[in-house]
Amino acid sequence: MKIAVLPGDGIGTEIVAEAVKVLNALELKFEMEEALVGGAAYDAHGHPLPESTLKLAKDSDAILFGAVGDWKYDKLDRPLRPEQAILGLRKNLGLFANFRPAICYEQLVSASSLKPELISGLDILIIRELTGDIYFGQPRGRRVATDGHFPGAEEAFDTMRYSRPEIERIAHVAFQAARKRSKKVTSVDKSNVLETFQFWKDVVTDVHKEYPDVALDHMYVDNAAMQLVKEPKKFDVVVTGNMFGDILSDEASMLTGSIGMLPSASLNSQSQGLYEPSHGSAPDIACKGIANPLATILSAAMMLRFSLNQAESADRIETAVRSVLSSGLRTVDIWSEGTQKVSTREMGEAVVKAITKKAKG
Ligand code: NAD
Repeated sequence: MKIAVLPGDGIGTEIVAEAVKVLNALELKFEMEEALVGGAAYDAHGHPLPESTLKLAKDSDAILFGAVGDWKYDKLDRPLRPEQAILGLRKNLGLFANFRPAICYEQLVSASSLKPELISGLDILIIRELTGDIYFGQPRGRRVATDGHFPGAEEAFDTMRYSRPEIERIAHVAFQAARKRSKKVTSVDKSNVLETFQFWKDVVTDVHKEYPDVALDHMYVDNAAMQLVKEPKKFDVVVTGNMFGDILSDEASMLTGSIGMLPSASLNSQSQGLYEPSHGSAPDIACKGIANPLATILSAAMMLRFSLNQAESADRIETAVRSVLSSGLRTVDIWSEGTQKVSTREMGEAVVKAITKKAKG
């Protein structure tokens, strides 16, 4: 088993270092190889996704990714910006299904801005299509400047599109995931206004005929955004397009208290995957040693389960994270009165300790 380790920028290097320690503590037989990506790769090689990094990613069973981006790259031509590395990896590896679980840990119920009764026991899975939609439509509005902005331009446009196979494959993923959970899928669209999403709704409805044991309902994205804060536990599996999924999964992540807790997986049809925290590179807190590494550590657990066939080791990581939270340790983003504030490194080491203690016990 080979894992490509791509820490990236900002807090990426700090949080990935802790996830690597946790993976090493499991004493499994896999090879990990690190490479530059994002702004760090641009600085060293003039491109956010150098050929060598892409080759390593392609040759690996899974990719453990930190985060990319920093405001200092905002003036670069768009293809050279750090965020393009993620789009490039998704495209080159065919990563079309993004899994973003939003789970509220009992120990963190008070960290949410919602009332405890609304989120206690929350366990939603948002499945976002990753390779189509307005982010990849053609044609896109022509730029008139080289710095990524539009001085003097009168209009700009992006085109929304989805093909039948793209919708079918993500719908299958959602129905199959629902079969392992509570057998309920909500497909989110904007079919009252957009042709692309009337088509989405029709295709999802067609695919549903193959899954009579799973319940399907459809919801407009504006209503879904509202219901997620009004009554989040009514959802189980949510499937949606690239842009709506981008926004709703961030909204869902905040239900659980901190974006620093939420892992994600992006998979292709061979179960090769890219695993990363749901948050970005957080330049505002980089190098301060205060970032929460748990989303990345939990992403490593998803990697073991989905791409490396090591479900038992994934369980060990998740149990260790729960036990560390129960012991009252908190990074600053999830800290509350009566709990103990710890650094990124201390949190990672506490998870390692919980894993090794359990193994010895
Ligand atoms: P962000 O997720 O980086 O940060 C949003 C807020 O959450 C910040 O206040 C940050 O301090 C906090 N935060 C994020 N992760 C945290 C953690 N682990 N622990 C504690 N607090 C945490 O989003 P942003 O500020 O909008 O973007 C910053 C940069 O990240 C931008 O360049 C953006 O393009 C990039 N970005 C990258 C990815 C990715 O690599 N997949 C995703 C989103 C944004």
